[in-house]
Amino acid sequence: MARPSSKKVTKSRGVRARRITKKRKALFLDRDGVINRSAPKHEYVTRIEEFEFLPQTFDTLRRLKDAGYDFYVITNQAGVARGQATHDQMNTLHEYLATEFEREGLVLHGVYMCPHQDEDDCLCRKPKPGLLLQAMQEHELDPADVVFVGDRETDMQAAKAAGVRGILIPGEAGISVVLDKLLE
Ligand SMILES: [Mg+2]
Repeated sequence: MARPSSKKVTKSRGVRARRITKKRKALFLDRDGVINRSAPKHEYVTRIEEFEFLPQTFDTLRRLKDAGYDFYVITNQAGVARGQATHDQMNTLHEYLATEFEREGLVLHGVYMCPHQDEDDCLCRKPKPGLLLQAMQEHELDPADVVFVGDRETDMQAAKAAGVRGILIPGEAGISVVLDKLLE
């Protein structure tokens, strides 16, 4: 069996040490109106053909990746509870989303979706903080290292309830407006 050369070992140790010392932060992203264009009111984005990335999404996320952020999607999709979309359709859509991130040199670390509607009285539908708390628990994230970007007041309420910083952006404005706030 070939042994790794000593040079190689030294190099990989160096990389590992750097990863440990530089702690990454987490950017939680609402989906519709932040990453992609929202559907018209009372309609839902349920298919790949309907999924339109907003301009600057990937350029912005690449800059934030370089600044130390990892990405997670936090989304309400009541269309599932209302019978306008299936779990399978949403899974397919979110696999596509992860693939597009990868194609753009990015990693999507998780997609957290609430499939309920208000009447279900669940713990995950924003403005409740359930999805954010779940993501933080599963990925061992410290609330101090998390920022949630959304285009609705309910996103900000969820951020507050989860104890993380919230940044409200005007819907469809494109996520690049957060750069001023996150890159200093
Ligand atoms: Mg939204």
